[in-house]
Amino acid sequence: MIAGEWVKGEAGKIEVISPYNGKKIGEVTVPSKQQVDSALDKANEAQKSWGRTPIKERSAVLFNFRNILIRDIEEISHLKASECGKTFAEARAGLMKGIEVLEYALSIQNLDLGGKAEVSRGVHCEYRREALGVIANITPFNFPAMVPMWTIPIALALGNAYVWKPSDKTPLTSLKIANALTEAGLPKGVFTVLHGGAETVDAIIDHPAVKAVGFVGSSKVAKIVYQRATNQGKRALALGGAKNHIVLLPDANSELSGLGISDSFTGCAGQRCMAASVLLAVGNVDNHIQKIIERAGSLQLGQDMGALISKQQKEFLTSAIDRIEKAGGKILLDGRKAKAPAGLEEGNWLGPTVIDNVKPGSEAATVELFGPILSIIRCKDISEAMAIENSVEYGNACSVFTSSGPLADRVVREASTGMVGVNIGVPVPREPFSFGGINYSKFGHGDITGRHSLDFWSNIKKITTKWEVQTDSNWMS
Ligand code: NAD
Repeated sequence: MIAGEWVKGEAGKIEVISPYNGKKIGEVTVPSKQQVDSALDKANEAQKSWGRTPIKERSAVLFNFRNILIRDIEEISHLKASECGKTFAEARAGLMKGIEVLEYALSIQNLDLGGKAEVSRGVHCEYRREALGVIANITPFNFPAMVPMWTIPIALALGNAYVWKPSDKTPLTSLKIANALTEAGLPKGVFTVLHGGAETVDAIIDHPAVKAVGFVGSSKVAKIVYQRATNQGKRALALGGAKNHIVLLPDANSELSGLGISDSFTGCAGQRCMAASVLLAVGNVDNHIQKIIERAGSLQLGQDMGALISKQQKEFLTSAIDRIEKAGGKILLDGRKAKAPAGLEEGNWLGPTVIDNVKPGSEAATVELFGPILSIIRCKDISEAMAIENSVEYGNACSVFTSSGPLADRVVREASTGMVGVNIGVPVPREPFSFGGINYSKFGHGDITGRHSLDFWSNIKKITTKWEVQTDSNWMS
């Protein structure tokens, strides 16, 4: 979408293939460099008046946007599910989480009022939050609505023009979101959607009007995008991949850990940056592991668990399981043997897989696999478990399952991650708390959502004022 209109891209097209059945479900076109430049010029023009629009008016448009998303939630969730392979329930829940961010953005008008104080005789200091101008966001395939919704409402509420480059694997949901914003009354040009891959991203980052770049995706690409933007003096925040650990202690509640850990590595077929990947089993926790396997083994593909994004990803994961087994891994639950749902045999299905006896430092212990695979590393105590957790380069999430407050607190303190959970398998902070990892899971400073994101998506202008001559003070007071 360029200046409020759907325009045919001149640099080719992308076919969208459903992970459920391998069939083409749609296509989008890719803009040429000239089209990208012209779109960003128009966004820059449109931002000038959007940035000057009072925040209460901007919020009114976003409030309409919320109501349209709620009205159309079933339709959008079906489209999301069919292009990225999630179950309908997961697709719906993802959009609802995005709407929570939108509701938070609606509160900025009442909560983030700036500040003013007399700092010396007759001298006042004030700060005001101002829009940056045009900002860009590049998003991954696995959350076609939720991840974009982390940034769309907040960046727009703060008065920016928003340019979105959705994943080339799941570009269709963006059409619904853009149309909803138009229907909500967003002025033309304030929201732009540009499809494509690296070339489109490069053209967006390099355009002089783009002041800040947000990115969510793999760490390899996050680093490329971060470096390209910051080399040009632009603000950038690039969230990358993950390898998340769960520390399971013998005193854990079996029901809580069985459900929490199983849902964490199987939800969204393991294709989420907060999914459990490595279970650090401290001492004898076999009864807890049994519960995890029972729960994961009961899930029906196509009903309780979705499909993998592509045939290549399915091949990568099945061959990774083969390699891990050959390296000494003991398969406790074998997703390679899971049956595809009837009529969907051409889809990219892999069942939940649990592998015991994984060694620290091995492929299963260090590489982001991004599928429904849980690798178990046996540890004699918490010190050993935390040393393994700390040795992995990523830093998104770590969780502990225990009944002990002090032991939980130790894991919270020692985890080398931006987000930690206690008896929660997927410790995603909810608004107004902000989302973001550390280490190789994030390039740049700050978080991408919540109250800690406001400073990233805006400038703070500081104003110092004096109106009267002060006879009892000089310039040094
Ligand atoms: P990806 O890095 O392949 O793609 C992400 C985006 O970058 C897409 O829009 C893609 O078109 C674009 N892109 C691809 N190559 C590029 C290049 N060379 N230059 C510029 N842009 C390029 O990621 P993906 O496969 O879509 O998503 C899965 C990854 O995203 C996983 O690693 C997952 O952990 C991560 N992820 C992280 C978070 C988080 O919050 N940290 C959230 C969701 C997903």
